[in-house]
Amino acid sequence: MTEVVVLGGGYAGIMAANQLAKSGVDAKITLINDRGDFQEKIRNHQLLAGTLSRKYAIKELLHPSVQLLETKVTALDPGKSVLYAGESAISYTYLIYAAGMVAGGEKPSSEDYALVADTKESERMARRLNTTPNGRITVAGGGLSGIETASELAERYPESQVTLLDPAPFGKNFSQKARQYMFDLLTRKGVVVLQDRILSMEPGRVRLASKRILEHDHCILATGLRATSLAQQAGLACDDRHRVLVDRFLHAAPGIIACGDAAVIEESPLRMSCAMALPTGAYAGKRVASLIKNGGAEMKGFHQDYTIRCVSMGRKKGLIQFVRADDAPKNFILKEGKGAFVKELVCKFTVKSL
Ligand SMILES: Cc1cc2nc3c(=O)[nH]c(=O)nc-3n(C[C@H](O)[C@H](O)[C@H](O)COP(=O)(O)OP(=O)(O)OC[C@H]3O[C@@H](n4cnc5c(N)ncnc54)[C@H](O)[C@@H]3O)c2cc1C
Repeated sequence: MTEVVVLGGGYAGIMAANQLAKSGVDAKITLINDRGDFQEKIRNHQLLAGTLSRKYAIKELLHPSVQLLETKVTALDPGKSVLYAGESAISYTYLIYAAGMVAGGEKPSSEDYALVADTKESERMARRLNTTPNGRITVAGGGLSGIETASELAERYPESQVTLLDPAPFGKNFSQKARQYMFDLLTRKGVVVLQDRILSMEPGRVRLASKRILEHDHCILATGLRATSLAQQAGLACDDRHRVLVDRFLHAAPGIIACGDAAVIEESPLRMSCAMALPTGAYAGKRVASLIKNGGAEMKGFHQDYTIRCVSMGRKKGLIQFVRADDAPKNFILKEGKGAFVKELVCKFTVKSL
C-alpha cells in the first residue's frame, strides 16, 4: 500500500491529510506533529491576552482514517524517502511537508520577552501578564500580528501602558482609510504608536535608533515569520526564510509535496498566512491523491487569488481590508462591529473548513 506521511499538524497539514483521506485512494496516511493539541496560531494574540475560549485536539480535526503520530521530526533524508524522529526512521512513498512557521526574529533569554508566533511562549507570557495587569508593555513589530496583539492587550488590560513599535510608517500594506481607522482606534485605547528601530534588547528595556531607551515590564516580539528549518537542513533548495522552493504543482523534490508556510512557489511567492496555508494544503492533499491514482496527469497547477485581509482590534472591533487578486489593498474596508463579526467568522471557518 502507498504510505503517505504528512509532516505538520497545522492548518496546511491537517487540510492536506483530510483532503487525501476524503479522496478515497488506497493509502495509509500518517500525520506527524510534535504536540497533540492544535495550535490555532491566528489566535495567538488571544492566547497571550487570555481571551481564547476554545482549544482543539488535532485528533478531533482529523479524518478518522488518518493516523496521528505525536513526535518531533529531527531530520529528513529526501534521497532515501525517510524521515527521522530521533533514532526512529519512518519511510514514506509520498511526503507532504507542512512543517509551518516559527518566529522570524531573535529573542533574548530574559523572561520579559516573548514571541507571539510561538504558542508555548504566548502561553508563558499570558501567565506573566496576568500577574502584572498594569504593566508597561512593548509590542515590537507593527504588522498584522503586532497590531492585533497591541489592540487585544490594551483592551484586556486597560490599566497597562502599551507601546507599538515599528521602524516603518504605521499600517504599511493597508489602504489610507484602513490605516487611519486602526491608528485612531489604537490611540483611543491608549496605545502609543512609535516609529523607531530597536538597536538592542536588554532585560527590562530596548535601545532605539533615536537614542531613546524604552523601558518595559513585558515585551512581545511580533517581528515576522520564517519557515521551520528541516527542509533547509536536509539540503533542499530554500529561500532566505527557509521556505522550500516548489513548482506550481507544489513539488519540492521527487516524492515530496510541500504546502503552507513551509513552502514557497518559486514563480509566484505567496504571503506566509493561514489564508494561503488552507488552499495550498487542500491542493497538496488532492495532488498526492491524483499522483497515486494516475500520476497526476489531469491536474492544473495551484492558483488562488487573495480577497481580504482581516485584523481583529480587540474582541468587539475589527477591520476587513478588501484586496485585489495580487493582495494590493483596495479602498473598500469594513470596520467596527461588522469588521469584528467577519473576522470572527473567518477564524471559525478556518477550523470548520479542515
Ligand atoms: C498572532 C498571529 C495572528 C495571525 N493572524 C493571521 C490572519 O489573520 N490571517 C492569516 O492568514 N494568517 C495569520 N497568521 C499567520 C498564520 O498563523 C500562519 O500563516 C499559519 O499558522 C501557517 O499554517 P501552517 O499549517 O503552514 O503552519 P503552522 O500553523 O506553523 O503549523 C505547523 C505545524 O507543524 C508542527 N511542526 C513543526 N516542526 C515540526 C517537527 N519537526 N516535528 C513535528 N511537528 C512539527 C508544528 O508544531 C505545527 O503544529 C497569524 C499569525 C500570528 C502569530
